[in-house]
Amino acid sequence: MKLILLGAPGAGKGTVAKLLTKIDGSPQISTGDILRGAVAAGTELGKQAQAAMKAGDLVSDDLIMGIMEQRLQEDDCKAGYLLDGFPRTIPQAEALKKLLNKMGEKLDAAVEIDVARDVILDRLTTRRTCTGCGEIYNVKSNPPAVEGVCDKCGASVVQRDDETEEAISNRLNVYNDQTAPLVGFYKEEGLLLSVKATSSQSVIDAIQAKIG
Ligand code: AMP
Repeated sequence: MKLILLGAPGAGKGTVAKLLTKIDGSPQISTGDILRGAVAAGTELGKQAQAAMKAGDLVSDDLIMGIMEQRLQEDDCKAGYLLDGFPRTIPQAEALKKLLNKMGEKLDAAVEIDVARDVILDRLTTRRTCTGCGEIYNVKSNPPAVEGVCDKCGASVVQRDDETEEAISNRLNVYNDQTAPLVGFYKEEGLLLSVKATSSQSVIDAIQAKIG
């Protein structure tokens, strides 16, 4: 399936994408993961993205479109993809539309995962991420078996640089100002599926009910 997952940071886009990948086989494409990988590897892309990411601001549309134009044309994207964290601005959504038209492709849906702000704040401040494989943990509800060590790959599990209270609050404001308008954009395109998420499974069920 060809999906966009929309929703504030901490809404569960990554978790839903990982579950859908298991069901459908389409790759999860997370621009956040790609950028964090580039920062960790110290590449030119990482150097250009690092400061904005740390502050919880968005990286430039040009940089993101450069990454995604290449990524969406790779072989594993032929049958489908789950876009997690992209697009995040109206110019990115418009550029994606042009790119897909050029490639002769159509999206199945843009799924808005709607979660209350207090739930999101609590989740983000208690979230921990594996530096090796990206697995997500939560210190309250889903800690790793050994503190600070990933159950899956053994790498360290840490709080992300952009999950300090200040950066989280900025990321939520950036979401409201720059990304939330995409809900209207995809509604007009006839692609919006808005789900009040009570659990990841409730989102999966709504997606399967809409597009099978
Ligand atoms: P995420 O893991 O999706 O929350 O992304 C982490 C950070 O990467 C964001 O706060 C932005 O700084 C940057 N980023 C990820 N995706 C995008 C995007 N589509 N456009 C601009 N910046 C992005």
